[in-house]
Amino acid sequence: MAKIVAVLFADPVTGFPPEYARDTIPVIATYPNGQTLPTPKALDFTPGALLGSVSGELGLRKFLEDAGHTFVVTSDKDGIDSVFEKELVDADVVISQPFWPAYLTPERLAKAPNLKLAITAGIGSDHVDLATAITKGMTVAEVTFSNSIGVAEHTVMQVLALVRNYLPAYQTVLAGGWNIADNVARAYDLEGMDVGIFAAGRIGRAVIERLAPFGVKLHYNDRFRLPADVEEKYNLTFHEDIQSLVKNVDVLTVHAPLTAETAGLFNDELLSSMRRGSYIVNPARGAIADTMAIVRALESGQLAGYAGDVWAPQPAPADHPWRTMPHHGMTPHVSGASLPSQARYAAGTREILEAWFAGEKIRSEYIIVEGGGYAGTGAHSYAKK
Ligand code: NDP
Repeated sequence: MAKIVAVLFADPVTGFPPEYARDTIPVIATYPNGQTLPTPKALDFTPGALLGSVSGELGLRKFLEDAGHTFVVTSDKDGIDSVFEKELVDADVVISQPFWPAYLTPERLAKAPNLKLAITAGIGSDHVDLATAITKGMTVAEVTFSNSIGVAEHTVMQVLALVRNYLPAYQTVLAGGWNIADNVARAYDLEGMDVGIFAAGRIGRAVIERLAPFGVKLHYNDRFRLPADVEEKYNLTFHEDIQSLVKNVDVLTVHAPLTAETAGLFNDELLSSMRRGSYIVNPARGAIADTMAIVRALESGQLAGYAGDVWAPQPAPADHPWRTMPHHGMTPHVSGASLPSQARYAAGTREILEAWFAGEKIRSEYIIVEGGGYAGTGAHSYAKK
């Protein structure tokens, strides 16, 4: 029998919700590329419930305990005295969400001799040291596509919020004010702007599709070009490299995974090559940007706005400079954790566990690392070109 440790975010400060704002969530038939939604044999939760917090338990307790496994759930994840660090030593499986990542560093992985499977309930497994996981012969899996559309929606929302100066206008209302000039002195229309998409994978592609009707000129960079008919349909300008992309846009959205190639990419040099007054929305990973370079660019006016929902580290400390930099629209890491997304990644986590315990293959689109190397989705998105 196995020991499964799940690191989940804490319950709401007001307690686990007795009811929700809506009674149902929409039923989605398939993902946009035809990939099927998670197909576990059964579910022990109601889709639409808060599953990602400690009391939600990703709806897994009955399933795991009925099968005789030990299931530990905690939100206490950082530092050597944390519950996670203590429970990790004899864990077989670790589950965590990128919003509240259980960092599996080389040191932690060395302390976990039994650990064979790390599941990301969501998308983005950079909180696991993938090189060490490969050396250890572990499997790393995530629930590909589970929250991609939600992140794309959040991206569009933040692009509009920055360009139209929504957040300061809302603050004016809360403060009882009505000064139009203060707000519109920084308000623009998205219409007619050049918008760049850095990495046109599942999320980037969905952002392209959602922004096209706004009458913008779309540009993108990716390691592989999109099919010619897609470029034509959205009138996309392809740029060979990030340097060319950032120079030619007013708004840039970032959707590449965090890898050795992308870490710290948005530094002073790259930011200074952008048009003055550009906006960046980065819901990919905070560490793709140089933290202080973003602050400097906002303070100097080189950037007119920065938003996203990913920070380094997470949770962001109370004095993280991005909390107080000017003209930002940051949220905590929530874009991929809407209630419908939680239902999908909880079901996908169960599907992965069912396959794992039955000794069956986990579907390849969920696999990042397997058999001593990058595999499945990981071989495409994380491995070097
Ligand atoms: P995909 O794997 O579908 O897309 C990633 C894309 O990035 C691929 O097209 C890949 O190219 C491209 N890419 C990788 N490295 C580079 C590079 N150096 N330069 C240019 N392009 C590159 O992933 P998703 O769209 O589903 O997710 C993207 C990222 O978003 C995730 O890795 C994760 O970090 C983040 N994310 C954030 C969430 C949130 O809640 N904020 C939720 C979900 C994901 P190719 O495959 O062509 O080689």
